[in-house]
Amino acid sequence: MTPNAGERLSRQPETARPPLAVSFEFFPPKTDAMEARFWDSLERLAPLGPRFVSVTYGAGGTTRERTLRMVSRITAESGVPAAAHLTCVGASREQVDTVVRGFAQAGVNSIVALRGDPPEGVGQPFTPHPEGYAGAADLVAGLRRIGDFDISVAAYPEKHPQSPDWDAEIDNLKRKLDAGANRAITQMFFENADYWRFLERARKAGITAPIVPGIQPIHSFRQIASFASKCGANVPHWLADRFDGLDDDPETHALVAAAVAAEQVTELLDSGVTEFHFYTLNRSSLVLALARLLGIRP
Ligand code: FAD
Repeated sequence: MTPNAGERLSRQPETARPPLAVSFEFFPPKTDAMEARFWDSLERLAPLGPRFVSVTYGAGGTTRERTLRMVSRITAESGVPAAAHLTCVGASREQVDTVVRGFAQAGVNSIVALRGDPPEGVGQPFTPHPEGYAGAADLVAGLRRIGDFDISVAAYPEKHPQSPDWDAEIDNLKRKLDAGANRAITQMFFENADYWRFLERARKAGITAPIVPGIQPIHSFRQIASFASKCGANVPHWLADRFDGLDDDPETHALVAAAVAAEQVTELLDSGVTEFHFYTLNRSSLVLALARLLGIRP
């Protein structure tokens, strides 16, 4: 049997592959116990040499202080570049710019620039603050006026739930990149075909910037399925079937989760993907295993 391109690539020695870049997304912890897990996971993932470790910004800026505290401390103490997520929903330009200057003062020069969702949730129409940024593209332009940031923006392989059609979706992504973003990071997806179709649409529209797949390891199928439905990501039947009946069997659940994520990342790797963003949910073990499969060692 003739090996396909993926099989040929996967047989190459790791040194022959282009270098991989990974980034890890965390959320700001709410309690002391969660904070201990945050630092423990960071300590275990830092030796993998991520491009950055990012910290999310709670809906409508609700975690503003905690996000700033975590990225400041990562920058000051870990030696890992930190990226701060930032949303512009419900805030004036001046308020957003003040937060940005706070990040810059803390030495954080990498930002994941987002519109965010209204407090009622992603299904509700977005109305910009009367003196606010109109959306993520406008926010990126504002960031470029403030400083020389490394900027990532969001992309949606299955289309943002509020997009009227694919043309609007791709046009919006192009406006964010044309405004000065360095790369896009995708929403979680579980069918790699959705990522490839999206990439093709973007390239056809003249988008050349990296579109980094956002990988969501399934620590808890129930939790991830609920996240996915809130953000418009499809959970395919075959995936739900694999986890069916495992709610009370954490060991098998963990093994299936590792197998599913391994299948997804190795397929992307073998098809030429060289950058990965992992949604860690502040946990390290599955991500450590996946990094190892990608050939990334401390
Ligand atoms: P935008 O790109 O401004 O717009 C979103 C969609 O609206 C577009 O895809 C497009 O379909 C539509 N749209 C915008 N402008 C127009 C127009 N002129 N005409 C027609 N349609 C238009 N949320 C948080 O609260 N905190 C976080 O830390 C956070 N981190 C995230 C990280 C990643 C990698 C991703 C993928 C998402 C993240 N989100 C976060 C969620 C994000 O805030 C929501 O998905 C939000 O609904 C859209 O934000 P955006 O930056 O993509 O918005």
